[in-house]
Amino acid sequence: MHLSRFPRVFLAHLPTPLEKLDRLSKELGGPEIWIKRDDCTGLSTGGNKTRKLEFLMAEALALGADIVMTQGATQSNHARQTAAFAAKLGMDCHILLEDRTGSNDANYNSNGNVLLDRLHGATISKRAGGMDMQAEMEMVANKLRAEGRLVYVIPGGGSNATGALGYVNCAFELVSQANDRGMVIDHLVTATGSAGTQAGLITGLKAINAGIPLTGIGVRAPKQKQEENVYNLALQTAKKLGCPDVVSRSDVVADSDYVGSGYGIPREDTLEAIRMFAQLEAILLDPVYSGKGAAGLIDYCRKGKFKKGERVVFLHTGGSAALFGHDAFFAGDSKALAAE
Ligand SMILES: *Cc1c(COP(=O)(O)O)cnc(C)c1O
Repeated sequence: MHLSRFPRVFLAHLPTPLEKLDRLSKELGGPEIWIKRDDCTGLSTGGNKTRKLEFLMAEALALGADIVMTQGATQSNHARQTAAFAAKLGMDCHILLEDRTGSNDANYNSNGNVLLDRLHGATISKRAGGMDMQAEMEMVANKLRAEGRLVYVIPGGGSNATGALGYVNCAFELVSQANDRGMVIDHLVTATGSAGTQAGLITGLKAINAGIPLTGIGVRAPKQKQEENVYNLALQTAKKLGCPDVVSRSDVVADSDYVGSGYGIPREDTLEAIRMFAQLEAILLDPVYSGKGAAGLIDYCRKGKFKKGERVVFLHTGGSAALFGHDAFFAGDSKALAAE
């Protein structure tokens, strides 16, 4: 498998660390839990979009684009990382933000990722929740084209076959790290949203016959829909790589039982997962993606789905910048010192 055939801008801090979570493993009393630190990819506080953007932005450069556009929810990590990457390459960046949650919270609407979008110099326009954001992007892109701009449009989450190459590469990187230390991985778990991360991972794992089952913990769509999205993108990714038959439908497993009432709305177990990772391992999760992914991981350990003696790797997809747009969820968390 020869990823060097595809244009890429090398910017991520790779390989990301693979670390053992001793205190969390002990607390849960089940499998040995490890973490793949894709929250440490670099680029404006890191996260999983850096790997995808290495391939997407290289394509934008190759096409001679002078402006990139993308879209996401108000606290989109993908929008923030796209704005940062564009700044690094000296390109303009325009972002459409969809108000998916209807929140009036001041920090939600202007702190966290939104603050960083602005700092990186992106222009932002807003849309009401439920609009066809891809169509909205095309409309704006066509206006810019009429003005003579060369626009490169990146889909939400950077999730197409080009972006997914970043996670094919992550699968290779993870297996190589495991091989180098004689470590057997029994399960891999990650949050799954716009599907590029899971689709790239499963394509990479299957292409090298790694034999590591992957579970995506959903953050929005119901199980069936999520699995179809991931599978379809995995097929396109495998085709792009020249190995069209490596992924079967049964390789794609998503669990949407931890979504709760909707995208961006945390459940109690999402917040518990965020607190546990922060207090046991000093690792920051977020309430939209990695907190839900970790809630699934923790529940699987508690229910014995992952057994004692097994080794589970949680791929940390990032998102900590969004914490500063969601501080209201933790408003009651302050502890007092008993002696005072
Ligand atoms: C985008 C994102 C995800 C989901 O990845 P997809 O490739 O969209 O499925 C997970 N975690 C974080 C922090 C993200 O920003």
